[in-house]
Amino acid sequence: MTGQSFLPYGRQDISEDDIAAVSAVLRGDFLTTGPMVDAFEAALANRVGAAHAVVCANGTAALHLALAALQLEADGRNCAIVPSITFVATANMARAVGLEVVFADTDPDTALITTDTLAVALERAKQAGLTPRVVLPVHFAGQSPDMDALAALAATEGCVIIDDAAHAIGTISAGGYPVGGSPYAVMTCFSFHPVKTIAMGEGGAVTTQDPALAEALRRLRGHGLTRDPSCFENTEDAFTDGAANPWYYEMPEIGFNYRATDFQCALGLSQMKRLDAFIARRTALIAEYDERLKTLSQHITLLPQQPAQTPAWHLAVALIDFAAAGISRAAVMAILRSHGVGSQVHYIPVHRQPYYARRWPDLTLPGADRYYQRCLSLPLYPTLTAEDMNRVCLALTTALRGQP
Ligand SMILES: *Cc1c(COP(=O)(O)O)cnc(C)c1O
Repeated sequence: MTGQSFLPYGRQDISEDDIAAVSAVLRGDFLTTGPMVDAFEAALANRVGAAHAVVCANGTAALHLALAALQLEADGRNCAIVPSITFVATANMARAVGLEVVFADTDPDTALITTDTLAVALERAKQAGLTPRVVLPVHFAGQSPDMDALAALAATEGCVIIDDAAHAIGTISAGGYPVGGSPYAVMTCFSFHPVKTIAMGEGGAVTTQDPALAEALRRLRGHGLTRDPSCFENTEDAFTDGAANPWYYEMPEIGFNYRATDFQCALGLSQMKRLDAFIARRTALIAEYDERLKTLSQHITLLPQQPAQTPAWHLAVALIDFAAAGISRAAVMAILRSHGVGSQVHYIPVHRQPYYARRWPDLTLPGADRYYQRCLSLPLYPTLTAEDMNRVCLALTTALRGQP
């Protein structure tokens, strides 16, 4: 359609205030680590009810830092439990710290890990001679799994929980706490990529209540270096007349450069001030999708909403029975595209990726597969207008009813 802009499945909303916040940093003295890093970390920690927030280069780096901070031995036996419906980074960063990945199935309708699928995955890990150490629940589309039950099961198996909350900044879980300030997760990882709910360009963060983990995360973010004299081991190099030498630092363990810049943090901080408005708009759009999809076709529904929580929706996932509708997903996506409507599949089950399928050749996860066969993410972002919504629904009607 001419004269209409393309509607992606997700995009950032940058205001004049956001631009001014970034410009102010560019005119100042700090391009990389500066006062905006501390300010954004404080705002994020405050928002999610965490004692500490450590911002970093992206959400993948956040997962890498969190998993590295656990200091688990890469002995070929330790493993992480990861739901198969997620972005590949969740599993990949477990591999990056030398853990084997054992995939958990998901609920076929919500794409969330459940206690049943976690129990099966734990059993499969043990059958394979592996020791489960960490569970990475994904707060998919902005909804939390049943964390109370998951945490109880994980604890009986001696596993800690690291939340992948890349989709879920602002979500209030069933226990009434914000994701990131969870009593269950030792650490929570966020992404602030432009398609996520708030944008830093590239950016991410880890939140935790544990001061020792926060310190480990900061050290790992900066090459593994410390300037804390109480940590110095090479005391002859470190001190002159009992005082720490001014040039001196030490590297007790290996780390990375996963810093976020001051201008990224200025954008994150400015966007954080708009989070409630973003969530309100996303919530209204989800309610409207829910209403309209009900009358659009019997073959389409919106991802079911979990009880007792207040999700900050990241994705508008439609579940479509393509076989019953008599049209392939590829054909639906092509019709949407011809109307200028973007859509995407979140996600291809990670256990199906060739790298992981080679490690687990006999694995089948029917819940994840059944979800995957039906999912299609529709445009969802704060600047999506009523007119845009009409266009999405008209395009879907065309695709699913064969009408123009
Ligand atoms: C986006 C995302 C990540 C990775 O975040 P980046 O900032 O893109 O590195 C990890 N997990 C999930 C579930 C995501 O959606």
